[in-house]
Amino acid sequence: MKTVDLHMHTTHSDGSYTPAELMDYCHEKKLGCVAVTDHDTLSAYEECRRRADQHGVELIPGIEISAEYQPGTLHILGYFLNPSHAELKIKLEKIQRARRERNPKIIEKLNRLGMAITLEEVTREALGDKGNVYDKQIGRPHFAKVLMKKNYVRTFEEAFDRYLGKGKAAYVDKERFSSREAIRLIREAGGVAVAAHPKQIRLEPEALEKFIGELAEQGLGGIEVYSSCQNQRENELYLSIAKHFDLAVTGGSDFHGKNKPDTDLGFMGKGVCLTYDTVEALRARIN
Ligand code: AMP
Ligand code: ZN
Ligand code: FE
Ligand code: FE
Repeated sequence: MKTVDLHMHTTHSDGSYTPAELMDYCHEKKLGCVAVTDHDTLSAYEECRRRADQHGVELIPGIEISAEYQPGTLHILGYFLNPSHAELKIKLEKIQRARRERNPKIIEKLNRLGMAITLEEVTREALGDKGNVYDKQIGRPHFAKVLMKKNYVRTFEEAFDRYLGKGKAAYVDKERFSSREAIRLIREAGGVAVAAHPKQIRLEPEALEKFIGELAEQGLGGIEVYSSCQNQRENELYLSIAKHFDLAVTGGSDFHGKNKPDTDLGFMGKGVCLTYDTVEALRARIN
């Protein structure tokens, strides 16, 4: 039976492995079926698929869309979607453009706070001497690294705590889809929408259940019950919510390579191992 990991990132969003390197690592880890879920982009898909094919690893087209939500984080995973769906592509390009327009605004805020930092430095941090801005998302982690290198902060965390984190002095909000729009787009492109790492929605059990119910009414098809960031007690809660609303159960490591070194590929909680039944059950939700 194939082992499964349905949540991971490449250099096309905020992971440290290139698409080919990530697929090599999936093979090394003996994963039989995986989904790459970069934030708000499908641009890694073709390269991942070519390499996955060479290794005989089954690759499910995937994405992780950031949706509007306060005060936690609402990420909606999409699986089995058609990566060349026209409306999806156009909407994602618009989000990527908004992200590129946000970066100079963050620079402006940091400059006003007295820090000498330029967009060129941040771009160089993100791209090195290769790559282009269209297959790489430049974002706050790159700002954080430049702030560290220039000794404005001591640690990566300090950069977020003082300047870059939500509501902090140099924070600029991102354009996002509403949950309804994200779920609709995923389904429109032939996919199944899944609520990522429910822990990060940061709601108490009852409120979470109510909220997942609302997402289910908007067309949500599953919940990521198993994630490296969730413990067994939390898993049980999410599993009961999934059952309550008849949602598919998924899991993934949320592997980001060196950019989140605590989480290894294939790990989604102590003793958790997803089998291929999960994938079959998810596929059955396509409509
Ligand atoms: P961006 O996409 O530019 O909004 O940046 C999002 C990324 O910044 C996330 O994927 C995290 O890697 C990182 N990040 C966001 N908030 C924090 C935080 N409070 N501490 C550390 N890293 C963070
Ligand atoms: Zn990420
Ligand atoms: Fe996420
Ligand atoms: Fe993720």
